[in-house]
Amino acid sequence: MNSYRKKLERIIKNGYGVKSGVYSLIDPRIEMKIDERGEYQPVFSGLETEVTYENLLKVDMMSDYSPDEDQIAQQLFSRVKGIKRDPIIGYYSGLFIGHVAENDFRKNGSSGGITSWILVELLKQKKIDGVIHVQEVNPGKNNGILFKYVISRSEKDIKKGAKSRYYPMEMSEVLKIVKSRPGKYAIVGIPEFIMELRLLALVNEVIRDRIKYTIGLICGHQKTANYAEALAWQQGIEPGNLKRINFRVKQPQSTASNYLHKMTGIIDGKKVHIMRGNSQLFAGYWPFGFFKSKFSDFSDNVFNEVADVVLGDAWLSEYESDGMGNNVVIIRNDEIGKLITSGVTRSALMLNDARKDQIINSQLGLVHHARDELPFRLFSEKIKLKWVPKKRVGSLPWLSPLRSVVQILRYKMSTRSHQVYITARKKEDWLYFERKMGKLIKKYKFIYKLIAIRKKGILNVLRNKLRVRTRILNTLRRLKRATRIRTRSKQTIAAFGRYLDRREYGQADGAILTLTGYFNYGNVLQRYALQKFLSKNGYKFISYVDSYSAPRDIYRIGRKTKLKTPVRAVKRFLNYQKPYWYIPKYSEIYPEAGNLKNIISFVNKNIWIKPFDPNDDFNTYIVGSDQVWRNWWGDREVLGYYFFNFLKGRNTKRIAYAASFGKDKIEEVMNNDELEYIRPYIESFDRISVREKSGAGMIKKVWGIGNVDQVLDPTLLLKESDYSELINSSDLKYEKIQPIFTYVLGETPEIKDFIHRIQDDRQQSITSVRARGGIENDILPPVELWLKGFRDAELAVTNSFHGMVLSIINNTDFIIIGREAGGLSRIKDFLSEYGLNERFVDEENLKTFDSSKLKSINWKKVNKKLKERRKESSEWLLKSLK
Ligand SMILES: Cc1cc2nc3c(=O)[nH]c(=O)nc-3n(C[C@H](O)[C@H](O)[C@H](O)COP(=O)(O)OP(=O)(O)OC[C@H]3O[C@@H](n4cnc5c(N)ncnc54)[C@H](O)[C@@H]3O)c2cc1C
Repeated sequence: MNSYRKKLERIIKNGYGVKSGVYSLIDPRIEMKIDERGEYQPVFSGLETEVTYENLLKVDMMSDYSPDEDQIAQQLFSRVKGIKRDPIIGYYSGLFIGHVAENDFRKNGSSGGITSWILVELLKQKKIDGVIHVQEVNPGKNNGILFKYVISRSEKDIKKGAKSRYYPMEMSEVLKIVKSRPGKYAIVGIPEFIMELRLLALVNEVIRDRIKYTIGLICGHQKTANYAEALAWQQGIEPGNLKRINFRVKQPQSTASNYLHKMTGIIDGKKVHIMRGNSQLFAGYWPFGFFKSKFSDFSDNVFNEVADVVLGDAWLSEYESDGMGNNVVIIRNDEIGKLITSGVTRSALMLNDARKDQIINSQLGLVHHARDELPFRLFSEKIKLKWVPKKRVGSLPWLSPLRSVVQILRYKMSTRSHQVYITARKKEDWLYFERKMGKLIKKYKFIYKLIAIRKKGILNVLRNKLRVRTRILNTLRRLKRATRIRTRSKQTIAAFGRYLDRREYGQADGAILTLTGYFNYGNVLQRYALQKFLSKNGYKFISYVDSYSAPRDIYRIGRKTKLKTPVRAVKRFLNYQKPYWYIPKYSEIYPEAGNLKNIISFVNKNIWIKPFDPNDDFNTYIVGSDQVWRNWWGDREVLGYYFFNFLKGRNTKRIAYAASFGKDKIEEVMNNDELEYIRPYIESFDRISVREKSGAGMIKKVWGIGNVDQVLDPTLLLKESDYSELINSSDLKYEKIQPIFTYVLGETPEIKDFIHRIQDDRQQSITSVRARGGIENDILPPVELWLKGFRDAELAVTNSFHGMVLSIINNTDFIIIGREAGGLSRIKDFLSEYGLNERFVDEENLKTFDSSKLKSINWKKVNKKLKERRKESSEWLLKSLK
């Protein structure tokens, strides 16, 4: 092996090339073209000389002629004041976790929105003239490509580029612009791109001078363009018909990692929008590594070690439950450090100091894969007599037997996925891909089962197996009972089933639309309360399970546990309500399902639910309560659902009961485009009431609708005795509640300290109900226990609006902590109306709040007011229905 050309070809032919596009800055005749795998490849002109190849090797991070990450990082950062170094994280002068608190950065970003915030600040402070980052482009005008690197020169354009794009990129076009147009730039990139850019800067003075800041992302791995295409194809959008994809739609009511993909494409000539969770999509589960670019498996640079600042997702249990997302932040550049500090000082950023172990743990799987297990991958290639690039971690033959198999399988899954997909596309058969890759997935899952057994210990596994056996026997018994029904003819059952369906839902007077998450006790209770109040007054309303805030799988779980009555057993056999029932293993689709079983069974026992169906034809629809008009989804069509966009011009009664925006200013809830989209729908409401005074003001100001009343949250329409009925009908009626009861969403160390202080002052013990955990086997306690806590305690401490409401209904002494994420206006408005302001403490002021100085509440006065308000609100609702 002697010529430079052969050395470069060795990198490319073995598939290690990063294809970042820096080659084109060495020789502009080298073009970047996307191939059938959906990856960029350099296309050589044939006019390259040995000198060109030598120079190309200098900017290729996989070659033996370029310095490694340690050498580059040392040159760049070792002299920065106060800098430290960790072998895994690299250099750092500051480590943080948090998010942007101002404007829409967080809502529109993938994680905490800090990346776009830094870019905007650099531009505002005139430290740069442009930002090199990724934007969505029109595939019709870009050879089918959906995203590419562009240069943004305004705040608006920078913001438009937010969100992670799991899509191939290359920088040749933008770097050529940088070369031809003087100015200062910041660039966002994954580790391998930033590394090759640093190598280019060593040989190209113009690039070195003009690219002032490198903003690094952490990157699990790089996907090819076929990844996006495959996600859409599984949903029926055939190759070539995908027009847009948003890989990171947040579900604020769920956990941070439970985000959705939104795909827009053409099916049967019609434009469709489809939203699915990544774990619901065959190719979407990242650990399988489908459509991975090979260089990602041969990089040991997890924390983008040569970038000035690094941003990633805070995949940590303590941040996971916050569906709005948080960033991990690693700072290496002084100026960016100052920018961040000033952001924190003026409260534009909410950041906590982070420890090294937190930063590493946030990417633990990736650290194992990219650093601990890369030596084995290098060794595996070497024994096949293949050339491998030099890596800092070196090659090693040893890995535990099970981990070795995992590595071999992962490698197979990612390499095969490319070819199998190309064949599936030729055969025009998506299922071919699923079938072929499914075999490898089975083996992979089997190995993970063995790993789990090893971790748990064999005795525990056997014990669990016995439990499973008993469960199987019970299921078989149930099945036996059910098969008796099957003996009747299928058609008769089908007809009977339809009749039952009509009987079940046909008697409904209308439908209620509300948020239907299963994580939040307050949400579930307000669903219950509105339906119960209506039924006490002679109206039967079904409560929709919507497919946006509660994924269908949850509904499916609900149905499963509810299949007790003959009506539902029959329906199950008919299976005519596809797609709600036909995927049996819900735990695989929705890993948290088991943790929510108490809440799911409460809903199934106490609320009359029905899957949302836009074709239902009820006479009356009610939307509310809870924060139904807060645009959680950043998607106007989903928001429009809560304004009845699906009813179109139908002649039905539309009522909003106690709907809430959850924020004081409309700009914090929806943008102008969304406001206009909502206008015709809100104008067609028959009657509107809101929960907060501020809501009525917003509606008047924005849509000019003045006739809006303020009413009580539905939970307040019921009395203490109604809730006691629920407690008494459960097994928990004898459960002892300690004098202090706490229920805190997103508990911080400051809140913990606060509660401990109260406990020390009062010398009393505590019963706590955890808010959603998202941790495996962390089963949330029953709703009835939550209710009992607020009824039987002497003092309740909570940051939940509904927790406060339940304390008031039960005349239980309480303290409510203000929590921005939960929407402060609803709490403050409420307390001031009842003269209970003293009971409020802002999260910021916990240290100075002295609970022992609280005056006792004049319950007589509160109850009188509540009675009046309850009467008005009940009358409002009942009158609306007449
Ligand atoms: C392919 C890929 C894999 C990732 N894997 C991980 C992971 O395993 N663990 C982890 O913690 N984080 C990972 N991230 C980073 C994470 O998804 C977020 O991008 C990061 O936390 C920043 O979030 P934010 O809300 O601050 O960014 P935002 O405010 O949403 O801004 C994101 C910025 O990144 C730019 N951008 C988007 N896609 C790309 C791209 N492909 N190449 C270059 N720039 C891009 C956008 O144009 C925008 O300027 C990955 C990102 C990508 C693109």
